[in-house]
Amino acid sequence: MHELYLAQSLLQQVTKLAHENKASKVLKVKISIGPLSGIVVDSFKFGFDALKRESSLTSKAGLEIETQPLVLYCMECSREFQAPDSWPRGSTTCPGCGGQSLLPKGEDEIVLQQLVME
Ligand SMILES: [Zn+2]
Repeated sequence: MHELYLAQSLLQQVTKLAHENKASKVLKVKISIGPLSGIVVDSFKFGFDALKRESSLTSKAGLEIETQPLVLYCMECSREFQAPDSWPRGSTTCPGCGGQSLLPKGEDEIVLQQLVME
């Protein structure tokens, strides 16, 4: 399961930072998940909650996830617009010129934004 592996990587990163800051507890972890990551947020949360209990350092850590909307870039008129829910299925066209040469833009990874420790 992809999400479980990613949750584990995040917890390793968090644990390392907590040690560097000589913290005894991690209270909150805030991350943003890029629209191109393909991560199922619920699965990620589930994995995080299961794995965080393995260490007293992270067992009380709350997880806050910010997801970003997927943006499409039109190669014909350079317009950028938010991708409809039907993307990439269905026939999406540029609202500016009606073009169909659209490129998805956005992050494809998890970024650790904030860590609250004590
Ligand atoms: Zn266009």
